Amino acid sequence: MIKHPFTKTMSLFFLSFILISACGNNKKEAPSLAPEIKELSHNVADLKITNLSTMLTTRGIGEWGYCALVEADGKKVLFDTGGLPETVLKNAEKLNVDLSDVEDVFLSHNHGDHTGGLRTLREAYKKINPKAFSRIHVGKGIFTQRLNVRNWMMEMKEELEADGVEFFIYTESAELFPGVWITGPIKRVHEEKNYGGRFKLVTPEGSIVDNIPEDQSLVIDTEKGFVTVSGCGHAGIINTLEHIKANISEEKIHAIIGGFHLLNATDEHLKWTASKLKEFGVAKINGAHCTGLHALYFLKNEMNLARADAVVGSVGDSFDLENGLNPGILAK
Ligand SMILES: [Zn+2]
Ligand SMILES: [Zn+2]
Repeated sequence: MIKHPFTKTMSLFFLSFILISACGNNKKEAPSLAPEIKELSHNVADLKITNLSTMLTTRGIGEWGYCALVEADGKKVLFDTGGLPETVLKNAEKLNVDLSDVEDVFLSHNHGDHTGGLRTLREAYKKINPKAFSRIHVGKGIFTQRLNVRNWMMEMKEELEADGVEFFIYTESAELFPGVWITGPIKRVHEEKNYGGRFKLVTPEGSIVDNIPEDQSLVIDTEKGFVTVSGCGHAGIINTLEHIKANISEEKIHAIIGGFHLLNATDEHLKWTASKLKEFGVAKINGAHCTGLHALYFLKNEMNLARADAVVGSVGDSFDLENGLNPGILAK
């Protein structure tokens, strides 16, 4: 078994900074560790994932956006930051969720409905903890200029860096904490095409369709299998799971949580998605944000999941290994 303790991860982070700084390049590349690691060294035993931004709510503010707090064996990482500047801050207060010790933030992609709360959260919590919201984990491509459309991340980068915030750019899968993995940008094997296609990326070779190349997910290794959190699912949920299988481990996928961008999917596509999810062993779904209501129930029926095992995500929902999904009262 390949040992891969957290201390080693951190020292590699540190080492990569020194090397990159020495080359006069201020871009921070995250360490790439996955290809050799096929036997994983750590199962997260204590896991809780709490939705802090999505549309449906009976507790707090609902919005077009997504954010979830991931707590894994005492470590915390905020997955995305919601859309409007104050949503996550206010929902955390309302739900008595303490974010003051969150120092790591994972961003699935550049869109404002996932990055809009970042500045506010950093401002609010750095007064309590100077390191709060100071390490931001992003996929390569998040700072690429878009044609005729705002890239919020380009705007925020300089401002946040001046405030002491560091960005870690991932080009492939890596372990953030023991048992908590970042997929890095996801290879598009299947034609899921979960993006509009009308926006363009500005590249040296000219403008090309913006397929949101930076889109990445978070994966938690547990004794029940992987728990995957997805932001907007632009890479496609099946492409995401294929990527996990190819780059992290072939372990089954126990649960998927977050936005899967199936709101426009045809029934034919949903049927294919359901059969693939079954192949991966998916037993629990919390379909929040852009998953789509019809899509969620279609998947539930196609996969023969029980009422408690496939729910529409709402603000304050949680998931844990012992109890599974704890949905809001409207989604029960
Ligand atoms: Zn998006
Ligand atoms: Zn979104």
